[in-house]
Amino acid sequence: MSAASVPLRRALVVGAVMLLSPMGCASSAGVARADSEQPTSRDAPAPRPKWGLVIHGGAGVISRENLSPEREAEVRAALTQSLQAGHAVLAGGGSALDAVSAAVRILEDSPHFNAGKGAVFTHDGVNELDAAIMDGTTRKAGAVAGVRRVRNPLSLARLVMEQSPHVMMVGEGAEAFAKSRGVELVDPKYFYTEDRWQGLQRALEKERARQQPASSLPAGYDPVSGDHKFGTVGAVALDQKGALAAATSTGGMTNKRYGRVGDAPIIGAGTFADARCAVSATGHGEFFIRYAVAHDICARVEYQNVPLWQAADVVINDVLVKAGGEGGVIAMDRDGNVAMPFNSAGMYRGYVGEDGEPVVAIFREAEAAGAK
Ligand code: ASP
Repeated sequence: MSAASVPLRRALVVGAVMLLSPMGCASSAGVARADSEQPTSRDAPAPRPKWGLVIHGGAGVISRENLSPEREAEVRAALTQSLQAGHAVLAGGGSALDAVSAAVRILEDSPHFNAGKGAVFTHDGVNELDAAIMDGTTRKAGAVAGVRRVRNPLSLARLVMEQSPHVMMVGEGAEAFAKSRGVELVDPKYFYTEDRWQGLQRALEKERARQQPASSLPAGYDPVSGDHKFGTVGAVALDQKGALAAATSTGGMTNKRYGRVGDAPIIGAGTFADARCAVSATGHGEFFIRYAVAHDICARVEYQNVPLWQAADVVINDVLVKAGGEGGVIAMDRDGNVAMPFNSAGMYRGYVGEDGEPVVAIFREAEAAGAK
């Protein structure tokens, strides 16, 4: 393990905010302050990585009690594979855009995350996928929403960015564009997983129990569903040339209806990158949209000149908590500082720097033994 990995690993273990800078140290969400106070000095200063990749696989009620050891091992393996894929790109001199694309694709293809295969079901029992990608250097961005047959929605978002004059395409139009570009379309059955189907059944059952008239939007309509796990996937990367990129892909929220679109494909809400900051979010999307979370974090870094960890911590653990919005973000700045705050019980997350040693974490509580 390199010196740089020590605070990284500790930050992942305590599960919230960390930074790497010449003066860097790590802090947990419960400890980090929203004022100018520095995080605790429990961690030794460490060199920052010149480049690296951070990923998430969703936040929510993720605790040891509701995650079996088998599933935990599979989730950790998929996160590790995703980090390795992104690292291989960066190590070969590839772009941050290619790195986040490679990392997200692995997670989209895994049934354990709410993106691509494994996406949650809508109220009508179908899967509607959203994704976005942004290039911090050019500020170009691409997004798709509500697609039902695109195996890897992030690839389509990238094509929107690179092969169209637009930023966002939705539904059938996005799929027509996909066809025109030779993108792989799959039978919607491809996205089926028993777990997600059962998640929808539980959500519908809860809704029925409230006995709402079928014609109205139930007063207690809660698209989070009983599972309260988000599971969106995302990646941010800083490449060897100093370019940043961000990407996010999701099935949205269980039991969503009426063409609901969350924050993931909304540039500035769930996904954002500029020349100095990149963010990908997971959580209750409506809050992330209303509070323009991803852009707010980067704007604080730019206008207030505060460290990344502080900007991310204030938005997730202060602004969003006060508003009642659950979730978290991963973020990187152009100096290689990393932040991974979340205000939920857990967040699937991981980091890899130049040393190529993937570090993965899930829970908030100490988990050093199984951190890798
Ligand atoms: N943010 C996503 C949405 O609201 C959900 C998630 O993070 O899993 O669509």
